[in-house]
Amino acid sequence: MPHFAYQDGVLHAEATSLCAIAAQFGTPTYVYSKAALLENFASYANACAGRDALVCYAMKANSNLAVLDLLARRGAGFDIVSGGELLRVIAAGGDPGKVIFSGVGKSEDEMRLALGHGILCFNVESIPELHRLNQVAGAMGKQAPVSLRVNPNVDAKTHPYIATGLRANKFGVAFDDALDTYRAAAQLPHLRVTGIDCHIGSQLLDDAPLLAALDKLINLIDVLDAEGILLHHLDIGGGIGIAYGEDGEAAPVAVKAYLGRLFERIDLWRAQSHHGVPIKVIFEPGRSIVGNSGVLLTRVEFIKPGPEKNFCVVDAAMNDMMRPALYQAWMGIQPVRKSDRPTLKYDVVGPICESGDWLARERELAVEAGDLLVLMSAGAYGMTMASNYNTRGRAAEVIVDGDLCHLVRRREAAADLFALESTIS
Ligand SMILES: *Cc1c(COP(=O)(O)O)cnc(C)c1O
Repeated sequence: MPHFAYQDGVLHAEATSLCAIAAQFGTPTYVYSKAALLENFASYANACAGRDALVCYAMKANSNLAVLDLLARRGAGFDIVSGGELLRVIAAGGDPGKVIFSGVGKSEDEMRLALGHGILCFNVESIPELHRLNQVAGAMGKQAPVSLRVNPNVDAKTHPYIATGLRANKFGVAFDDALDTYRAAAQLPHLRVTGIDCHIGSQLLDDAPLLAALDKLINLIDVLDAEGILLHHLDIGGGIGIAYGEDGEAAPVAVKAYLGRLFERIDLWRAQSHHGVPIKVIFEPGRSIVGNSGVLLTRVEFIKPGPEKNFCVVDAAMNDMMRPALYQAWMGIQPVRKSDRPTLKYDVVGPICESGDWLARERELAVEAGDLLVLMSAGAYGMTMASNYNTRGRAAEVIVDGDLCHLVRRREAAADLFALESTIS
């Protein structure tokens, strides 16, 4: 994470000390680097330069309006999974015409909202969803642009909770049913079949499964051509993994190299196939854009030695960062101030009343109460998965730009948490 480095023994985000951020905004606080965010987006955008391609940032990874605005200004589209996310795109000044709508359970209201704003495409995942969308579009006098999320049945070799492209997953139309599903879609008068998509999983450590999925999609496009169903875009999804390891570890997949291999295959196919219309290539990256653009800054409340383990109790918890509790995810943890004190092995845990409330286990740390720590690689699936469990206000979020620091979401106060509630007596 090059934009998070030690200067004179103190961890900085760009040119801003994390000690200063803790003093100004308190803890726990999510700290994002603007430069890191834009560089990660540019690694996709640059690899797509001169091509008919669109990078639709999967905003469920981090949907802060400031993040969306920064990306929208650089031409990003957005991959959304709810009506709420569409309203965020619009609030941030993003273009609904570059929005694709994924997800297995779109409601009629969400479909109406998205049709009303003229989104680029609905990524449809089942036949009942096709019928619902056809009906909603018909009632509005519109034609809905549709892509089918095909499940290519390739093993992404990732954690079972984030593998999505196997036959046993709830996502997508089974590859063997795809042709029939396209035929059904083509018959529906208020749908316009425009593309094909897949998303095989997240935190992929290798691009081979993505290229295998690409081959299956390309094959299907050719088969559909023969049926007179001409597709205009090909969406390979997101899923590129990031390094969660110790600082300095290389990314498991270099985005530039992956896109190079992908476009090479597409060019080869275009040179051989009879597919007669241009085809736009769409990407849906989330984690690889924001994951290593952010850290979670937290303060040590207590050191609690135990008979079997030593606990380092911090003020961030599973409600702020679910990944360890949900996926047993390993995330790097570093002191804000380097020290020469002897280290001890700790489980770093939060104040929540659950044994699953841990952030890091069995880590060598030299810590005392009052010290600041950061959970590394926390920019993706951190704040967006945060909850108010235990009536804990969600963390503040700041974006660092050089030596400037912008508060982009204030810390929730307790009164915010019950403002929507009422008593009945
Ligand atoms: C979550 C998701 C993504 C983004 O995945 P990352 O691993 O964060 O890149 C892309 N597409 C769909 C449909 C998703 O659900």
